[in-house]
Amino acid sequence: MTATTPQFRSLSPADHPQLNHGEAELTVDVAIVGGGIVGLTLAAALAPCGMSIVVIEAQTATAAASRQRAYAFSLTSADIFKGLGLWPQIGPHICHFDKVQLSDGDYGKVVQFLPEDLGTEAVYYGAEHKVLMAALQGAIAATPNIHYLCSASLGEMHDRGESVMAEVSTPEGMVRVRSPLMVAADGKGSLLRQRAGIGSVGWRYQQSCVTTVLEPEHSHQNTAYERFWPSGPFAILPLPGQRCQVVWTAPHAEAEAILTLPEADFMAELEQRYGSQMGRLRRLTPPAMFPVQLMQCDRYVQPRLALVGDAAHSCHPVGGQGLNMGIRDAAALAEVLTHAYQQGQNLGDVAVLRRYERWRRLENWVILSFTDVLTRTFSNQILPVVVLRRAGLWTLGSVPILKRLALRLMTGRLGRVPKLARLAQQSRH
Ligand SMILES: Cc1cc2nc3c(=O)[nH]c(=O)nc-3n(C[C@H](O)[C@H](O)[C@H](O)COP(=O)(O)OP(=O)(O)OC[C@H]3O[C@@H](n4cnc5c(N)ncnc54)[C@H](O)[C@@H]3O)c2cc1C
Repeated sequence: MTATTPQFRSLSPADHPQLNHGEAELTVDVAIVGGGIVGLTLAAALAPCGMSIVVIEAQTATAAASRQRAYAFSLTSADIFKGLGLWPQIGPHICHFDKVQLSDGDYGKVVQFLPEDLGTEAVYYGAEHKVLMAALQGAIAATPNIHYLCSASLGEMHDRGESVMAEVSTPEGMVRVRSPLMVAADGKGSLLRQRAGIGSVGWRYQQSCVTTVLEPEHSHQNTAYERFWPSGPFAILPLPGQRCQVVWTAPHAEAEAILTLPEADFMAELEQRYGSQMGRLRRLTPPAMFPVQLMQCDRYVQPRLALVGDAAHSCHPVGGQGLNMGIRDAAALAEVLTHAYQQGQNLGDVAVLRRYERWRRLENWVILSFTDVLTRTFSNQILPVVVLRRAGLWTLGSVPILKRLALRLMTGRLGRVPKLARLAQQSRH
């Protein structure tokens, strides 16, 4: 898919002749800082009830959409995008996971997850950042009540009691944004979270993650592999166009060494961990490395501020959960705010915002803990732990109800499902 950046409405001072030269003022119901997938999902989910929204994004629209990454995209995330009416733009450009295989190093027992385990069309999906962003940016550009300020830099913010006034510099000039609610969707280094002084708990794993895209000789047959090695989990995810995304976790020093290997040695190491099911593998993109951490904020809200996505939490990439959690945050916050807006309540009121926090914080803890336990038990070589986890794997593969439970957790179907996703689920039945 070739992503073309849509045309966004300009918000230049020329549109606001009553203001000083070079300045514009914008009063909105919700101001979202961060125009990544989570921020734009929130904007798209809020817009239908008529609220006015501004999205403030630090990068250009093209740069924000062109991150070289593919995600394991959950059934619930897909249902949320269907609820937003964006599936026609996404569905043809994603890959269905028809099988997910879980295994422990060279232990023979393999657990297979299939669509029939849940009665769905796929176990998961493989979706590229640029595909999701193109659909979202297209929807934002076509929605008159959303302003998208790109290449924008957040300056001073002033609390004005019932609202916040933020100074935003854009290439067209200064925009003063006034809103009862600011939402931090600005990723794991969130500036808004830091300014609000919101603390967090968490730790850095002694691991980093190396990613690359491959072209296999034989079809990937829409199969995703997650294999746990003592050095860390190793995943190969199918992508459209017979390509695969590798997410290879290893201790920092080992990951750095892998990154600098000549291509032939890199591929030899990779084949050792993966095998030869798909024949010869060709590397399409240079490998990149990311640190891995677990982080959960002490709180997701305070008066006139809410945190969503990586600004609120981040987790180990095992099981592909981070973005999926963020998309559910966005759908949940949109549901809470839409209800409050229709009731005429102040959107920045902490009593309103706590409904979102109570809904999402605990559910995210469950996922964060699950990915942490997975990583720690499978990276452990103490004999009783090895015996226990292999017995666990065997049980998971042999007891259908357990398999179904694990699948429902990983696909976002165990907690409270946002209305947007429920609508899509109901329309299938
Ligand atoms: C290697 C790797 C593989 C992964 N695989 C998966 C997977 O398979 N499935 C999955 O669910 N998750 C996965 N994740 C996690 C996923 O990438 C993140 O959880 C997700 O990108 C978070 O989205 P976000 O919109 O909250 O933040 P981001 O994607 O970080 O977006 C934040 C946006 O805010 C903007 N911004 C930042 N600061 C400011 C500012 N001060 N002002 C204005 N704008 C700002 C940025 O430019 C950006 O556009 C993976 C992560 C890694 C590292």
